[in-house]
Amino acid sequence: MIKISKSDYVLGIKCPNAIWFKKYRKDLQPEMNQAVLDNGTAVGELACDRFPGGVRIVAKPWEDTAITQTKSAISGNVPFIYEATLSTDTGEYCAVDILRNNNDGTWDILEVKSTTEPHDYHYIDASFQRYVFTKCGINVRNCFIMTLNKEYVRHGNLDLEQLFALHDVTEDLQDIETVQHEIERIRAVLGGTELGIAISKVKCNKFYECPYKHHCWKDVPQYSVFDAFKGAMADKVYSEYGADLSNVPAGVRANQSHPGDIEAFLKNTDVINKDILRDFTNGLRWPLYFLDYESIMSVVPMFDNSRPYQQICFQFSLHVQREPGAELEHYEYLHNESGIDPRPGLIKKLIEIIGNAGSVIVYNQIFEQGRNTEMARDFPEYAEQLNAINARMVDLLIPFRARGLYRPCQNGSASIKQTLPAFVPEMSYENLGIHNGTEASDQFMAFMTGKQTAEQTKEMMANLHEYCGQDTMAMVRLLEVIQKVIKE
Ligand code: SF4
Repeated sequence: MIKISKSDYVLGIKCPNAIWFKKYRKDLQPEMNQAVLDNGTAVGELACDRFPGGVRIVAKPWEDTAITQTKSAISGNVPFIYEATLSTDTGEYCAVDILRNNNDGTWDILEVKSTTEPHDYHYIDASFQRYVFTKCGINVRNCFIMTLNKEYVRHGNLDLEQLFALHDVTEDLQDIETVQHEIERIRAVLGGTELGIAISKVKCNKFYECPYKHHCWKDVPQYSVFDAFKGAMADKVYSEYGADLSNVPAGVRANQSHPGDIEAFLKNTDVINKDILRDFTNGLRWPLYFLDYESIMSVVPMFDNSRPYQQICFQFSLHVQREPGAELEHYEYLHNESGIDPRPGLIKKLIEIIGNAGSVIVYNQIFEQGRNTEMARDFPEYAEQLNAINARMVDLLIPFRARGLYRPCQNGSASIKQTLPAFVPEMSYENLGIHNGTEASDQFMAFMTGKQTAEQTKEMMANLHEYCGQDTMAMVRLLEVIQKVIKE
């Protein structure tokens, strides 16, 4: 008998290839992201503390003892069962995070998610749970998805009632017949031979990016119809002409996301629009301040005046050019006290050196501006100065995104990780100790939570100085490129 778990069910609904690979192609199994797993475990434990006094099923969901223990807890009429696990006679099984006893012969299912809103596939999860528990004779009254409450602001100890939000999704789930039908369809796939792979931009990114893309998409060119066209349009073009852009007729190219990208790719020529570049440089005011933040994001708020998933800035780099042709000056702040909120120190230092006139140049304004707006809200004593910095902010992404300057090797993206190697190839992140913002964030979080040795911290601090400084220097160089192109 083939057993079907909750994750099998979600994967089977997403794509028949995906469930086939999970069951039969162990060679393709993706690595699990340990940080995501750890966050899920930590949130799950806090959620159980929110409903104390229950019984925990310690056996794993695929072990028969988990079912025996669950049945015993149900018979014992306990108020809550954590990780309650049951299996149908036909092999569908699952655990639910919290099974709540309503003391009237009915039970509620509470499924904990480390998000701030229920996602579409969470409803599919919960539908399968209700199906399994109902088939096993449990009278399920209501199903809830329990998420973090994005409005919760920490003050002192965690307030678990406020930290979590309960969403009653009972009426929004697939009914028992629909789940039964889907299970039969999945079983038919698993009982047959391997299917041909049918990739699709929409399907392969449905619910989440499919972990088997490394296999199914391996023959897709580095820059393809999936980069040049959006969602369903990309799938339509792919179904008619394939992934290779050289097969797409000129009339169809009119639907591309950024006009001119495909033509630049096919002819291997740059796109230059000096009007867009001049509009950008004409808007700059001296002195020029090039600013970049690094941040950590804690699922559960770590500090007072912070919320679930809030980005907390711990470092900035600031390059300053006082007038055209002047030497660059460099300033920075890097927080160095584990477990202490880095924001007050960072804000004070920034305000001290960023002056009150001149453009503040960032790359992707939505991030730095958003962080300043949040810090102004959380530290109102600095609101005036932080809002004034935002009013001076100029986004270097704009002329690149508007295709004032574009090179085919950017593969349709205007992110700094694409524009920098395209226009300043001598500046590389490859030889740095930290290569991207995610690494910076992960390592600093390890420091803040006391998971680093002194030696690791020393090395990380040196790498962070270098990495964040490179981000602002990259902006300096990209602006020089724009100025040079305008003059040519
Ligand atoms: S990458 Fe796409 S086609 Fe392949 S298994 Fe995933 S969803 Fe299916």
